Amino acid sequence: MLHDAHGFWIAEAGSPEVLPALAGEQRADVVVVGGGYTGLWTAWHLLASEPGLDVVVLEAGRCGHGPSGRNGGFVTGMDLALPALRRESGHAAAEAWAAAARETVDAIGAWCEEEGVDAWYRKGGELVLSTAAAQDSGPGEAAVDGSAVLALTAEHARARCDSPVFHPGVFVRAAATLHPARLAFGLRERLLARGARIFEGSRATGMRPAPEGVSVRTASGSVRARTAVLALNASTGLLAPLRNRLTVSSSHVVCTEPVPDVIERLGWHGGEAISDRRALLHYTRTTRDGRIVFGWAGGRMAAGARPGGRMELDHRVIAQVRADLLRFFPQLAGRRIAHAWGGPIDVSPTHRPAIVGLRGLPAWAAFGYTGNGVGPAHLLGRTLAALALDRRDPVTRLPFVDPPPRHVPPEPLRVAGAALIRRALVRKEAAEEAGGRADPVTAAVAAAPRLFGLHIVR
Ligand SMILES: Cc1cc2nc3c(=O)[nH]c(=O)nc-3n(C[C@H](O)[C@H](O)[C@H](O)COP(=O)(O)OP(=O)(O)OC[C@H]3O[C@@H](n4cnc5c(N)ncnc54)[C@H](O)[C@@H]3O)c2cc1C
Repeated sequence: MLHDAHGFWIAEAGSPEVLPALAGEQRADVVVVGGGYTGLWTAWHLLASEPGLDVVVLEAGRCGHGPSGRNGGFVTGMDLALPALRRESGHAAAEAWAAAARETVDAIGAWCEEEGVDAWYRKGGELVLSTAAAQDSGPGEAAVDGSAVLALTAEHARARCDSPVFHPGVFVRAAATLHPARLAFGLRERLLARGARIFEGSRATGMRPAPEGVSVRTASGSVRARTAVLALNASTGLLAPLRNRLTVSSSHVVCTEPVPDVIERLGWHGGEAISDRRALLHYTRTTRDGRIVFGWAGGRMAAGARPGGRMELDHRVIAQVRADLLRFFPQLAGRRIAHAWGGPIDVSPTHRPAIVGLRGLPAWAAFGYTGNGVGPAHLLGRTLAALALDRRDPVTRLPFVDPPPRHVPPEPLRVAGAALIRRALVRKEAAEEAGGRADPVTAAVAAAPRLFGLHIVR
């Protein structure tokens, strides 16, 4: 098994040539910091609204080498969250967000088609299934409406994918899978063709007001622009004003060698994305070249919200993911795991992403996808572009724009508390899957986030 921080997708896609770093003092209309989906979609929507706009993207490493190029490739909307969204934001705003998110799932597929980017996009819907009696009435049930979200019996679920662990659950229509790195690299290439100036190896190290705008500095240069967009994902917590707006954990993934015969035996023909109903969920899907990709959101917490190290590759977590894969699909016994990797997750205390205006600067930051950013980054990118251009667009009134601030506890309480809670959740959910129950102390610690109004896991 190849433990490789870049994972299968980036290896399969083949990284494009590195772009030169920023040098000297530059001017632009908008400077976008971060070359993942959020930054790249923002740049795309900026140029789609105003062709000829001078857009600079600064990327610390290489565009698409962060989580955007190595995630599970689930493109999901907000249909499962709709009942909670209605409570949080009111009926009309919740419906508007869910509708925009549904449109986004299709818009990404349409973009790939129009731009000739073969990102393996496939709209097969998502199965969200219980894998233990304790999960049988779990996430998604309240969202069943007979059209966007359908209830599934265990038999229906197993007819779509014959895993012995599947219990009842739901089917969400508006969901797709794609090849994350092919999408990220395709976006980067199409942006270059449209005239965006992208600098790689260009970490932003500071930002300050400048006449009629803002200036963003790197080690080798600076960009002065009217507006800045910060799309830093897990690194957002390194910005002083946003330090207490998120925590960072990790998710890890394994990918098999091609196993088309196993997929055939499972009857998994529809390209469905599948996740379980755990708080620290498992997620799995097939690939166009006949592999099974399987991930788990149960990685460790990062102290001080600092990504890197075990966030990228944690061998203990990978061993667990591999064991869980075989529990889901015993038919894979004896088959090779070709790749294993991980990456940081920007966990928001509300479980929802947010766009926040930075006080005293013409700058916006987007963060908090909590492991669900592939679809949402397109919607937030469109919104960031409208905000940066000061344009009216209905999306700028959606509830993720400047929501009431929610904070996580300060360090060192945050990482210690979150690690304790995560360990309790892991024990509780493992006990439930083995047909038992967690001890009362474990159950109480696992329930702590909800008691404090924090929605940090599913
Ligand atoms: C293993 C894994 C599986 C996942 N699976 C799914 C999934 O199936 N579906 C889903 O919806 N979501 C999934 N996610 C989450 C999803 O990948 C992210 O939410 C999404 O990619 C966020 O995009 P982004 O552009 O905001 O962040 P990123 O892709 O992290 O991009 C941010 C970029 O900013 C750069 N950067 C940081 N600091 C600086 C700086 N100071 N200066 C310049 N550049 C900087 C980074 O190098 C990085 O390239 C998964 C995540 C992981 C780790």
